[in-house]
Amino acid sequence: MKDWGRRLSTGCLAVAIAFASVATSATPSFAQSAGQRRLPVVRDAEIESLVKDYAAPILKAAGLSPSRVEIVLVNDLAFNAFVAGRRIFINTGTLLDSETPNETIGVIAHEVGHLAGGHQERLRDQIARAQTIAVVAGLLGAGVAAAGAASGNSSVAGLGGGLMTSGGGIAQRGLFAYQRTEETTADRSALTYLRKTGQSPKGLLDSFEGLMRKNMLAGVSRTTYLSSHPAPQDRIGFLQTAARESPFFDKKDSPEQQMRHDFARAKIAAYNGGATQVRRTFGRDLLSLPALYGDAIATHLAGSPKAALDKIDALIAKQPNNPWFQEFRGEILMTAGRAGDAELAFAKAAKLDKSRSGLIQASIGQAIVTGGKREKMKDAIAQIQRGLEADPGNASAYRFLAMAYGNLGQIGDAELATAEGYWEGGNFTQAKIFAARAQQKFRPDSPQWRRAQDILVTKVKRS
Ligand SMILES: [Zn+2]
Repeated sequence: MKDWGRRLSTGCLAVAIAFASVATSATPSFAQSAGQRRLPVVRDAEIESLVKDYAAPILKAAGLSPSRVEIVLVNDLAFNAFVAGRRIFINTGTLLDSETPNETIGVIAHEVGHLAGGHQERLRDQIARAQTIAVVAGLLGAGVAAAGAASGNSSVAGLGGGLMTSGGGIAQRGLFAYQRTEETTADRSALTYLRKTGQSPKGLLDSFEGLMRKNMLAGVSRTTYLSSHPAPQDRIGFLQTAARESPFFDKKDSPEQQMRHDFARAKIAAYNGGATQVRRTFGRDLLSLPALYGDAIATHLAGSPKAALDKIDALIAKQPNNPWFQEFRGEILMTAGRAGDAELAFAKAAKLDKSRSGLIQASIGQAIVTGGKREKMKDAIAQIQRGLEADPGNASAYRFLAMAYGNLGQIGDAELATAEGYWEGGNFTQAKIFAARAQQKFRPDSPQWRRAQDILVTKVKRS
């Protein structure tokens, strides 16, 4: 199940623990991240698997293990990407703006250049590691602040400065901006990785040229990306020359890869601006499969499950082995109150998904929980736990796990799952409250008791 910035809500949990059968809404909510100083992280199996596939060969070429680098999608339409610790953050806007896979891959190669070059060390040195996520949450604001500082406009700088001024030791505005020498190094590294993996550096060049053009049009309000990654004209000049030396310069993305990329863009467009944004993105070819996919998603989000189902079924007829079509069919069926059918659709999606996403695996269990059949709750727990094993950061899966335990009357386990969900969602206060409650229900030193103890004694989120 997709979790586009959805957060755990106390109300739902209270109901869950009272064993009421709750109609869980599968409708994502973007609004919840607004107003909170929280990174609008978006979880989506399809886009995550795509970006992982983009990054894996690049990371290997850089001598880094793909399994040790986490890729985090940020639901923000501004073109931006950055690294912090062992995480690469990519805005959904970067994918939407990239007309080809190669453009996004170029940006990833540049970020991996920063990662491999240890350019984020300054950031890490100055901020306690545990604070990284919270600080990165302010990065979008930080981009504005850096832009303000760069343009000498202090009122602009004030806009994004909330976190940094309140954060004590992190008051430095320039903290997030790479040095120009680091930018050049990252560009050179990117070119090396692209060449090693037999990919064109044209996308990297196109992306940066595009950003420069936008930047000139935007005037004072520089694009976020260029605030953290200074791109002076000479840097572009170097890229223009060096990129053309690559034997792969004219190599194009395969049609399959382009299609996958466009499916992801269609989804991002639909979630961020509905049918209008889908049309804006695929204006030239509204009958292409990606445009139709975006239309199906937009229809679902507009609250017409029946029409959305017809549209996704038409797509499934064209690509029966596309796991994300099946997954989305499950999403629609959940909203339509057909949990049993949704379970089958998610199971099909899981079978077809080569990336073995823990999100989809957990969705099967979540659909069972929503169905409310007590005799199936044990199966639901097993499915969700399997999903959480693959993806422990899936905060909303814990909510359903808690409901399943609640349904079986295992209150301690329900409270512990609730605590875990809050923990993963970043609400440490609530996590500790539920961990304390859960602990009273377990034998001291039992695995659950110890897990609760971990939450109670740990000061910050593990990372
Ligand atoms: Zn950079």
